[in-house]
Amino acid sequence: MSVNYAAGLSPYANKGVCGLPEVFDSPEELKVKVETLAQLIKESQYLVVHSGAGISTSAGIPDFRGPKGVWTLEEKGELPHFDITFEDARPSLTHMAVLGLQRAGYLKYLISQNVDGLHVRSGFPRDLLSELHGNMFVEECEKCGRQYVREKVIGVMGLKPTGRYCDFVRSRGLRACRGKLMSTILDWEDSLPDRDLNKADNASRQADLALTLGTSLQIKPSADLPLLTKRKGGKVVIVNLQPTKYDKHAYLCIRAYVDEVMKQLMELLGLDVPKWEGPTVCESATALETSADVKPEHKPAKEELRRDVFKEERKREAQDDSVQEESVSVKRERGDSPVDMNEEK
Ligand SMILES: [Zn+2]
Repeated sequence: MSVNYAAGLSPYANKGVCGLPEVFDSPEELKVKVETLAQLIKESQYLVVHSGAGISTSAGIPDFRGPKGVWTLEEKGELPHFDITFEDARPSLTHMAVLGLQRAGYLKYLISQNVDGLHVRSGFPRDLLSELHGNMFVEECEKCGRQYVREKVIGVMGLKPTGRYCDFVRSRGLRACRGKLMSTILDWEDSLPDRDLNKADNASRQADLALTLGTSLQIKPSADLPLLTKRKGGKVVIVNLQPTKYDKHAYLCIRAYVDEVMKQLMELLGLDVPKWEGPTVCESATALETSADVKPEHKPAKEELRRDVFKEERKREAQDDSVQEESVSVKRERGDSPVDMNEEK
């Protein structure tokens, strides 16, 4: 399937500020800033990373509001350029570095707005990840809530039935659940998944450092989560090429390609960027799993394990004030949005 997932969404008028010019720090500035970030990370007790489409552009997946973003081009009546499928996309250096930060014990929770499945396919533990806008490779049972991570994209969007049914058997001898499986991809009008949003909200309140990577922070409530961390006394660091309306709340804003920032950061922390060895699903940072299709709220077992579950599946048969002050009030925002921006002074 083409990565033009945007074409599968309903038309929606207010897509936010698109196509702002990108700004770059000088190599000297960048070096000093990444050193500061490395120090903040070393001193932090609870780091949360927030990722957006900007971390997948180097994997060949277009972003939305960058100079060549899907919505930026749409405003000009142009179509974005796609030269890869979701199944063929490889996690970027940033995806792998984020995994490295988790394995090293620095990163405690990851919140992503991306639907490309690359965090999951990189092997990032799913129990430490909130995918606020869904995942192209995941379908969920409407009856029991069990999620299935597939090898291929689901091909259906907007929380609609995928045509498959839940085959989970609660205990031996009983019949399978047989609930309808649904796409997890949100359309503009859909509210965020409660489970993922609640976990993201909790992690953001607990965090003392929020690091945003490649997001223009225009979609609520995702964009407001880093501010929860700030309100609780933590710091916010923004890595993005375009200015965001939250830059004034950040302790540090880094203007460079995320892959370059993460490469330098990992060197400063003395960490290796893990190598990607094909699509891998890790359900839990602490659990031994036996299937890719694991119920999210399973009981963690003893050992950590990352496997190429797909191989097995095959055997059996993815601030600046120049920025418009009004944030996009997308209907994705729930009535009880976790942050009231008006409180922020
Ligand atoms: Zn079910």
